[in-house]
Formats: sequence, structure tokens, C-alpha cells
Amino acid sequence: DGGGNVRVVVRVRTFLPREVQRGAQCLIHMDPITQQTTLLVPDDLDPANAKTRSRKVVEEKNFTFDNSFWSHNAEDDHYATQEDIYNSLGEEFLDHNFEGYHTCIFAYGQTGSGKSYTMMGTPEEPGLIPRTCEDLFERIEAAQNETPNISYNVRVSYFEVYNEHVRDLLVPVVPNQPPYYLKIRESPTEGPYVKDLTEVPVRNLNEILRYMKAGDASRTTASTKMNDTSSRSHAVFTIMLKQIQHDMDTDETTERSSRIRLVDLAGSERAKATEATGQRLREGSNINKSLTTLGRVIGALADAKHNSRKRNKDVVPYRDSILTWLLKDSLGGNSKTAMIACIAPSDYEETLSTLRYADQAKRIRTRAVVNQDHVS
Ligand code: ADP
Ligand code: MG
Repeated sequence: DGGGNVRVVVRVRTFLPREVQRGAQCLIHMDPITQQTTLLVPDDLDPANAKTRSRKVVEEKNFTFDNSFWSHNAEDDHYATQEDIYNSLGEEFLDHNFEGYHTCIFAYGQTGSGKSYTMMGTPEEPGLIPRTCEDLFERIEAAQNETPNISYNVRVSYFEVYNEHVRDLLVPVVPNQPPYYLKIRESPTEGPYVKDLTEVPVRNLNEILRYMKAGDASRTTASTKMNDTSSRSHAVFTIMLKQIQHDMDTDETTERSSRIRLVDLAGSERAKATEATGQRLREGSNINKSLTTLGRVIGALADAKHNSRKRNKDVVPYRDSILTWLLKDSLGGNSKTAMIACIAPSDYEETLSTLRYADQAKRIRTRAVVNQDHVS
């Protein structure tokens, strides 16, 4: 049965050098047994210490998630490494893909909270995407050695949504040329998709990693030109896995197709800043439209009445932004989905907002089905 709630996990990162320098206080506590995350009140907001500040009411906040990953201090026993994150989330999601389910894992959080570190990682400490790719090809090789008459077809695509435009990250950026944007179409069977998006076949780990890096480089190249787009763009890496198995006895061929979506969202602070002050409108509210709409979609889906059988599809505003339109299935449909809420250790306001967002996402239910066809 593919019905289930969105899996929601939270991860807190280490201090960055600048935080160490200013003597930042860690406001996060995680209980490895209960998986509870506690956000503590910073000293300078604690009414007991407040001589000058207005006595704003702040209190300790507790949240329970499917996992609370403590990546703050490597010396602690319950420290979660990149491998730990893969083992407790990525691996299980890849199992689902081989069973024929679509999956989606997206990283949410303010800029600098560890989204890209978690999804992509570094050459020394690879994140979920390269680990998923590695495991994928190991499993394919093992299956081909063990199971007769099974074959696999793997394709990848990589695009970003920036300012409500879709850019193909597998098409090299041409210097001194305006960026080339793609359009969205909707197919009755496949739902919304990016028209003319590059989908490359890949046969091994090296090939897929090469495309991943090329796409990443393209995202960065463009971002230096356009003043740090990477914190304002949503990057969607997709792996399409097709398993074709021929049964000699029945002479029947079955095809299982699954889609693995790995999403590095834009920094969540952008949406809030615009909403709160309205002052950044000059930057183009489009930059944030996908993120603010994502918030509304999550809110609508989390709302109990939409989780009932009579879910009214019209009230979930998927079509209000490019990102939510494209991720429609992943957010409220045929997909097993996880959200990784990334938090900085010493940022009360942003962290509270991320934890509340994540808390809401826990209530979303999706209905994944095995995507299988008999082709002959
Ligand atoms: P984001 O993508 O959310 O803007 P990054 O992933 O770029 O944030 O992380 C910001 C900085 O923090 C980077 O220098 C990154 O290497 C570092 N960092 C993030 N998470 C961790 C972690 N769990 N352990 C060690 N360093 C981390
Ligand atoms: Mg990033």
C-alpha cells in the first residue's frame, strides 16, 4: 500500500567559522530516543535576561519528527554523518523506486542551513544525490548478475526554477547569450512536465556523476552572473528508472517505471522577507512566488479536510507557481515523499519558521502506486 504521510526529518548543522567567531549559542537540542527537536530561547531573548529589550514572549518549542538528525558536533555519539542520512532515508527511498514507486526528497531551509550539503555534499562528504546514484548502479549490477532476463534503463534530467523560469542545467550556458527558458506542458497521463527538457541516458555511476557536476556548475555559473541565484533558485535533479523483465514461462514482459526526484529548494528566508515587509518587491516577487506558493500548497494539503476522500483538487493552488505545478504529484499525489528541514544552530526566528513549516508537512498524505505495465 502506497498511502502514507510525507516523511519529515530535520537536520541541524555545525557552526560555521563566523558563528564560532561571534561566540554563537547553539539553540537546538535533539533527543536521540524520542527524535524530538527542541528550540531553546536565546539568552538575549530570554525575558529573565532582558534589561533593554521589550519583553517579547518567547518560549522553548518542542517538535517531533520522523528523524531529528544531529549534525552539530561530530564528537557526540548521536552525530549524524552524510552516510547516516543516506542509510536512514535515501536507501529506503531507493528500495521504493525498485518496487516501482515514484519518490521525492526535498530540502527546505534558510540559506546557509545545509540544504546543498545534505543533497549534494562535497567531494569528501558526498550527500544524498551522489549516494543514491552510487547505490542505484550497484543494485542494477547485482540484479543483472542474479536475475536472468532483466534489463534497466536509467535517464537523468536536471533543471532549475529561477524567477518563475525553468532553465535546463544540462544545456551548457552560452557566454554573452540570454538564458534559454523552457515551457511547461501537461499530459493527461504523466501530468505536468518540462517541454524539451534534456533527458540523458546513463549507463554507469561515472556518467551520472558527470552530468550531476555539469548541471551543478551550470547553476553556479549562472548564479555568479545573476547575483547569487543559487540561494534563490530551486534545483530539481530527476532520475528515471525503468526495469524491464521478461518471464520466459509466461512469455510476458513487465515494465516498471519510477521517478526519483531530489530537490534543493531556494532559501526559505526569501519568501518570508517579501511577505513580511513587501520591500523586496522590486527584486521581482516572481523570485519567491514558487516558494510562497509551496507554503500555501503545503498548508492546503495539511488541512485535514483535503486529506479526506472528498479532497477538492481545485483548492490546492498547485498551478499558482512553476515549482508547485511541476511537483504536483510529489506533493500531493502519486509519490512517496520526504522533506528534510535544514536548520542553522543559532538562528531563533528562521529556525522556528522552518520547524513550523516542517511540522505542517507531517500531516500531508500522498497515494503512491506501483507504476507497472505489461507490455506484451
Ligand atoms: P544551503 O544550501 O542551505 O544554503 P549549504 O549546504 O551551502 O547551505 O551549507 C552552508 C555551509 O555550511 C557550507 O559551507 C556547508 O559546507 C556547511 N555545512 C552545512 N551542513 C553541514 C554539516 N552537516 N556538516 C558540516 N558542514 C555543513
Ligand atoms: Mg545551497
